[in-house]
Amino acid sequence: MPLLYVPGNHDPNVRPIDTTFVALDHRVQIPGPEGCDNVDGRILQVAGLRVAGLGGSLRYKEGPNQYTQAQMRWRAINLEFRARLKRVPSGRRRVDVLITHAPPFGAGPAEDAAHVGFVAFHRIIQRLRPTLLVHGHVHPYGKTQPERRVDGTRIINAIPSRVIEI
Ligand SMILES: [Zn+2]
Repeated sequence: MPLLYVPGNHDPNVRPIDTTFVALDHRVQIPGPEGCDNVDGRILQVAGLRVAGLGGSLRYKEGPNQYTQAQMRWRAINLEFRARLKRVPSGRRRVDVLITHAPPFGAGPAEDAAHVGFVAFHRIIQRLRPTLLVHGHVHPYGKTQPERRVDGTRIINAIPSRVIEI
């Protein structure tokens, strides 16, 4: 089974190292869990679905995988640009599933600064119209989180786990 992930605010830096000046025969250690694909800032085609990702939460302290609203805006624009460069058969979506760590701004019940979510996700939803956005970060602590919709995209909080039919 393909296993894709994006890092969250409690995860270490799993960004691939810059291999520009590394000898070709040097084996590069890919950071992050083995056997999985980090889809943060990328678009991967798996099981017939185009899956994109934007990891991290709003910056609230020092550490990796945290971004200001402005930083996430640039990350989202970059991902949107990558999505537009991909050839997609007409009538197909450029991105079917968007995996994020934090929710879109205002789409969750949280109001504290670390959990309000990213404004930029609304723009990328409007532009790419994914069928589904799956996020984490907002811990419902036993309360079932209802599925929500933003501009026709299903928004699902996957904590602690979810089986989703597409
Ligand atoms: Zn989190």
